[in-house]
Amino acid sequence: MSRINNINRRKFLEIFGGCSCGLMIASCSTAPITQRKQLKLLPESTLNKQAAQIYENVKNKTKLSDNKKQLDEIKEIGSRIEESVSAYFESKNQNDPTYNFNWEYILIDNDKIKNAWCMPGGKIAVYTGILKVTKNKHGLAAVMGHEIAHAVAKHSVERASRALVLNVSTAAIDIFTGGAISNASRATGVDVAGMLRTFGIDNPFGRKQETEADFLGLIFSSLAGYDIRESVKIWERMKEANKGKEPPEWMSTHPSSVRRIESLKKWIPEIIMDYPPIRKIS
Ligand SMILES: [Zn+2]
Repeated sequence: MSRINNINRRKFLEIFGGCSCGLMIASCSTAPITQRKQLKLLPESTLNKQAAQIYENVKNKTKLSDNKKQLDEIKEIGSRIEESVSAYFESKNQNDPTYNFNWEYILIDNDKIKNAWCMPGGKIAVYTGILKVTKNKHGLAAVMGHEIAHAVAKHSVERASRALVLNVSTAAIDIFTGGAISNASRATGVDVAGMLRTFGIDNPFGRKQETEADFLGLIFSSLAGYDIRESVKIWERMKEANKGKEPPEWMSTHPSSVRRIESLKKWIPEIIMDYPPIRKIS
């Protein structure tokens, strides 16, 4: 089996080379704004549908916070970013990559988990634990902007397509056949963690995708009127929270580096100039 897989893989690489895009016009597209070429073999609609189903399970199986004020702030930041992303692409006469999104926000009551994620189609979760690190709305907007950027740039579709082609994972096939979902539902108690893993939520995306999410996240937060200089402080606070302990989830799923902070510092002044707030923040 592995020999056949290897041959297939080699054939694929021979035909499509490094970029994988030259000949596969139909299945290739570019990421918004950065124009990075992406391989997309699988329909986004299917992925969004499965993500929505998992999101429902997360809502049913995890303890949601009853801190209405905090949830309202998350929703407020989210809807400002939503509107700004759509308004931006509209202003450029480009297709809005979020036209088919069904945005939703939850705050999970877990002070120990310093994490946040956004599933395909705009399904967002913030854990109460990360609020100690984000500290203010600008910090929270930095984290949410980054997570939303992964969804806007369709990184999960790209990732699942790559996995499918390279046979490195059955997760992609599971998503598209509903296998992972139905297996998890059959088991006693829904394995929420397992399902999130299927989407790579607990795993860093590739280096290119992380850099792209950093960059686009800054743009979206800036368009939404937030102070993006806070993003550098988040990374510094993450490092602080990390001292002598297990790394916070958001940090381990989004590996930090000196270079990363340097990139943010380099981009921030340019982005503030090039992507001013589309709507004034109140
Ligand atoms: Zn990320």
